[in-house]
Formats: sequence, structure tokens, C-alpha cells
Amino acid sequence: MVEFDLVAPRSADEAFAALRAAAPDGAAVLAGGTDLLPDVDEGRQRPRVVVSLRHLPWRTLDWAGPSLTIGSTLPLRALEQDPDLVRRFPGLAEAIRDVGSVALRHRATLGGNVVRAAPTSDLVPVLLALDAEVEIVGPRGTRRLPVDRFVRASRRVDLGPEELVRAVWFPEARPSAYRWQRVRPANDISQVAVAAACSPADRRWRIAVGGVAPRPVRIPSAAEALGAGAPTAAAVARAARAAADAVAFPTDRRASADYRRHLVATLVERVVDAVVRAEGFPR
Ligand SMILES: Cc1cc2nc3c(=O)[nH]c(=O)nc-3n(C[C@H](O)[C@H](O)[C@H](O)COP(=O)(O)OP(=O)(O)OC[C@H]3O[C@@H](n4cnc5c(N)ncnc54)[C@H](O)[C@@H]3O)c2cc1C
Repeated sequence: MVEFDLVAPRSADEAFAALRAAAPDGAAVLAGGTDLLPDVDEGRQRPRVVVSLRHLPWRTLDWAGPSLTIGSTLPLRALEQDPDLVRRFPGLAEAIRDVGSVALRHRATLGGNVVRAAPTSDLVPVLLALDAEVEIVGPRGTRRLPVDRFVRASRRVDLGPEELVRAVWFPEARPSAYRWQRVRPANDISQVAVAAACSPADRRWRIAVGGVAPRPVRIPSAAEALGAGAPTAAAVARAARAAADAVAFPTDRRASADYRRHLVATLVERVVDAVVRAEGFPR
């Protein structure tokens, strides 16, 4: 049986102290535990102390005009059941509903997903398309980083040993969508996934691709090909080609690089179509 000490601090300062006390052997941070606990069970992580975020007051959803701040420990299930979030951030809601099962989403959190930074994450691509930023707290204060800079590589993020992600901030509600292709529709990892959003402020697009690179990436050439607001059919075709050309797709047991190139082009067309039909799309 795997053994560790479990501490459940009631403030961020207590959490930092617990993380510091466990150095240098290392503590692990526990949010929903859907990534961490299988890792511990299977010996991929061997923490001496597990610091649970359960009692921190971070299970929050705060609207401020067009922007939204989601506390890092709010379970995904609460997010997908929030009618305002579903209406104003449709792509985020779609991506959340694609994470595992309902039972899993009662525990899994947005903070855990972004810190895990799996190349196959369903949430990181849509965070990229929405220009989301992570709010990081640590003993030396608070800092903020765009998700694009926070997620550095597969399972590597810009987070110090005593730092925690307190929240994820979205600058504005955006018509958005998320589409993927999997071998099996449920309980599987995407061969390719594409998120898109169009800003009501500047009518510019963001396109991000997941499941293929060492980490999900934004594809500025595809976004630029779409122009501003509703794109023509020719612009959508150019964006689809740009996305297919922009990423060095791998070949693995899920799909060949050629098939992935084909998939990403098709998914770009579908996701753009869905965004154009979304409520509030800027014409
Ligand atoms: C059966 C199964 C199916 C899954 N399906 C999907 C899927 O379809 N799509 C998908 O994207 N993911 C999937 N996952 C992965 C997982 O559920 C998600 O990544 C989930 O969002 C992780 O959140 P959590 O709260 O459980 O994280 P945890 O397991 O608690 O933590 C994950 C990592 O982040 C760290 N961490 C967590 N919160 C913080 C914080 N606030 N500050 C600093 N560090 C923190 C932890 O120390 C740990 O290293 C699946 C997992 C399982 C077991």
C-alpha cells in the first residue's frame, strides 16, 4: 500500500508552509486527484506529503463584465452546469463535457487539468483560443501568465515548487467551439482536437490544436486566414490548409501523420462553422 501524510490547509499561507516543510523529498498537490492518485497508485509519483486544496476558498466562479474568473478547485461538473458559462463560453462548456465521465468531472478541476498539461488535454486548446491566463499564488506574491506561456511542454508548466494556481481568468466571453476526432467517441483520447473562438471586441479569430504537438498550440496562420468576423468559404479553406501545414503531426498507434493532417483540416471547417452559428457572433 502507498503511504503518505495528508494535510488539508485552510489558507494559502498554510499551504505554502506545508509545501516548504515537505522539501526536499517533495510534496504533491491534490485538487480532484483524478491525475495525481492514479500516478501515486502506479508509482509514477511518490510524495511523502500530499497537500489537499480542498479547504481553500477557491471553488468560485466570478463574472466581472465580459470577463470570467474560475477558481482552480471548482469541479468541472459545476462549470458545465452553469447556464451563463454554457451560453457565454460554449466552446469551454463543450470541452469540459468531453473530459472523462460525469463521475470523473464531479472531482476533476480546471486547475488540475492545466497544471497537468497533458498533450491530450481537452481543456488547454480551448483555454488558448480564449486567451485565458492563470493566476499563480506563492510565498512571494501573485503573478499572472497567459496559458500559452504557462504550459511549456508536455506535462511541464511554469510553476515553482511552492506555487499554486489559484484561478484561471478569461478576458471576455467569446463565441467558441471545440471539435475532436477519436477512435472511440467515449473514454478515449483525441487523435486531433481543434478549438476556435472569435472575439466580439476585435472580430479576430483564435484557433488552437490539441492532441498532436508536444503540447496544444495556437495556429496564428489559420486564424489570420479567416480574417475578421464571418469568413468566406475560400477563407475557411485557406485556414484549414494553414492548420494542416502548421503542425508537425506525429504518427503513432492512434493515427498516421497524414490522417491527422486530413483530420485537422476537416475539424477547422467544422469548428469555424459552429462558432459562426454561436450566440453573439460578431458579424
Ligand atoms: C479515467 C480518466 C479519464 C480522463 N479523461 C480525460 C479527458 O477526456 N480529457 C482530459 O483533458 N483529461 C482527462 N483525464 C485527466 C484528468 O481527469 C484531468 O486532467 C483533470 O482535469 C485533472 O484535475 P484534478 O483536479 O483531478 O487534478 P489532480 O489529479 O488533483 O492534479 C493534477 C496535477 O496538477 C497539480 N495541481 C492540481 N491543482 C493544482 C493547483 N491549483 N495548483 C498547483 N498544482 C495543482 C497536482 O499536483 C497534479 O500534479 C482523465 C483522467 C482519468 C483518470
